Amino acid sequence: MVTKGVMVYSEDRELELQLVGKGRELADKLGAGLSALAMGSGIADAGNLSEYGADRVYVADDPRLADFSVETYRAVILSAVKEFSPEIIIMGATKRGKELAPRIAAALGTGCMTECTSLDVDDQRRLVAERLTYGGSSIAKEVSKKMPHMATVAPRTFPKPPPSPRKGEIVRLKIDLPSPRVVVIERRKKVKASVGLEEATIIVSAGRGFRNKEDLQLLEALSGVLGAKIGCTRPVAADSGWLDEWIGISGRKVKPRLYVACGISGTIQHAAGIRGAQTIVAINNDEAAGIFELSDYGVVGDLYKVLPALTKALKERSK
Ligand SMILES: Cc1cc2nc3c(=O)[nH]c(=O)nc-3n(C[C@H](O)[C@H](O)[C@H](O)COP(=O)(O)OP(=O)(O)OC[C@H]3O[C@@H](n4cnc5c(N)ncnc54)[C@H](O)[C@@H]3O)c2cc1C
Repeated sequence: MVTKGVMVYSEDRELELQLVGKGRELADKLGAGLSALAMGSGIADAGNLSEYGADRVYVADDPRLADFSVETYRAVILSAVKEFSPEIIIMGATKRGKELAPRIAAALGTGCMTECTSLDVDDQRRLVAERLTYGGSSIAKEVSKKMPHMATVAPRTFPKPPPSPRKGEIVRLKIDLPSPRVVVIERRKKVKASVGLEEATIIVSAGRGFRNKEDLQLLEALSGVLGAKIGCTRPVAADSGWLDEWIGISGRKVKPRLYVACGISGTIQHAAGIRGAQTIVAINNDEAAGIFELSDYGVVGDLYKVLPALTKALKERSK
């Protein structure tokens, strides 16, 4: 019988499995149980949360949960918290998670450490987290003093665990759902040019070293041979409007195997988004550019010459 312990939730199932992995580790350290929450309409795969490590999966399956509503989702989470009385709650730092987590914390009269990059427990069973601060230039270590301890975690901060032979208990929640005060009257699909930056294994990225939008074709050619996604710095997207999404503290946080930074100076705001990259290659014509300090390999040169030469060499190698 699982009593207190760790509870995890994200509406993004991949992220929730990553939280299950971290939650399992913390629960084992505490000698406690791990529960996960699945909510929505017509949920068929709640079981895989236990296959990846949860002792118990709370399921709230109701047609009224098909669409996200902060009031109904909050009610479900609080009801699961009441059932399980966790000492630690970890939620996904998705857009929706960021709306929900502070509301849950407020309702429970506790605090919440947000977008944690590492999580552990101390000898007093308190949650200890690391978070990036000052635009990503330093790491703060924080200890939660109030129960239940709460934290949010961004996608791909922790790896998805391997499946385990565990067979957890499935508990169906019966909840009095409140009527949402917000009603969705229309849905429009967001058009995105650079879908999947967070999942990409190779990213080639543009900075202000590019003089105009048409020149991005140099990067497109390189991305074609490498099978890479195209990213950029904030000014390229937000100021020039050449691409939709940027990478960094206020943009996407990426974890590719290879990140090629072209004409990027390497400010702390951009660096905060590429910390998780395994190998960084920088192309910059200023040998004093900060990006070289972050890079594993650096090419001091004009990107307008280096990129076509690199693309040509890679094409020839792949023949
Ligand atoms: C609150 C806040 C949040 C922010 N969030 C983000 C964020 O999330 N992500 C982000 O990226 N920025 C962010 N910024 C902006 C950030 O401070 C920088 O302005 C930005 O990262 C710089 O982008 P850049 O490297 O493209 O441009 P620059 O700093 O102008 O660098 C351009 C580089 O290109 C090189 N270069 C020029 N010509 C060539 C050439 N021909 N060949 C090779 N190299 C060349 C130059 O030597 C230079 O190093 C944020 C700023 C604020 C205030």
